[in-house]
Amino acid sequence: MRILISADMEGISGVVDPTHVTSTHSEYQRFRQIMTDDVNAAVRGAFAGGATQVVISDAHGNKTNILVEKLDERAEINSGGIAPYGMIEGVEDRFDAAMFVGYHACMGTPMAVLSHTISGARVANIWMNDRLVGEFGMNAAVCGYYGTPVILVTGDLAACQEADAWVPGIEQVVVKTATSRHSARCLAASAAQKLIEKDSQHAVERLIAGKAPRKLQIPAPVKFVLELHHSAQADLAAALPGAVRLDGRRIAIPEGEMPAAYRALRAAINLANA
Ligand SMILES: [Zn+2]
Repeated sequence: MRILISADMEGISGVVDPTHVTSTHSEYQRFRQIMTDDVNAAVRGAFAGGATQVVISDAHGNKTNILVEKLDERAEINSGGIAPYGMIEGVEDRFDAAMFVGYHACMGTPMAVLSHTISGARVANIWMNDRLVGEFGMNAAVCGYYGTPVILVTGDLAACQEADAWVPGIEQVVVKTATSRHSARCLAASAAQKLIEKDSQHAVERLIAGKAPRKLQIPAPVKFVLELHHSAQADLAAALPGAVRLDGRRIAIPEGEMPAAYRALRAAINLANA
């Protein structure tokens, strides 16, 4: 029973402010420790539930947040930026299930801590086959392409609700409830981690019992539409071969199988550096 854990930072216990997730800020050092603790709680639960291998994908910023010296010794980690599959590095190894820890809601969601989609500075909206999508939906869809269901999400209430809309019945750990984009009523980190451990174990037990949520499968060809914040960003993103400029701020990404479309989308966002 092999589990992939994708760990982002905005949905980690106690995170509410941009300083908490910005590596150059002194506050960040506290929250990377808490991120490591949230991930370790999910790892403990996964092994208690019957997992035999757990691989983590550090999924925030430059992807070197989790403290490898504090990581549960049974787990391995994909660490470091520019990995081919980004937030879900390792996914092509076809895990039995994935867990998304510390996730946040998509750009524009009301009452959602640090909501954004891939890049707060560049991306206004992304649609996947005409449905508005955030990081949860697109990462779950790539997992689904490789036969992997997403069985657990942790984050604020809005992130968990977004996850449940894509994967009905997914195990959810609500570690905080936002009162604005930069504020939330939070559980104590230790209390949140007890819940993460318990629900992670339960999620793997459900999987083994054949009661896991279904994998998210998006029919090919997958069509992403990317809306940037302003037209100069769209000018740059439109240089992606095969991209079609729809209007001032929107680009249609070349259609294809899920992994190719996902890579093309990320390439277009990387180009939009204006
Ligand atoms: Zn994110």
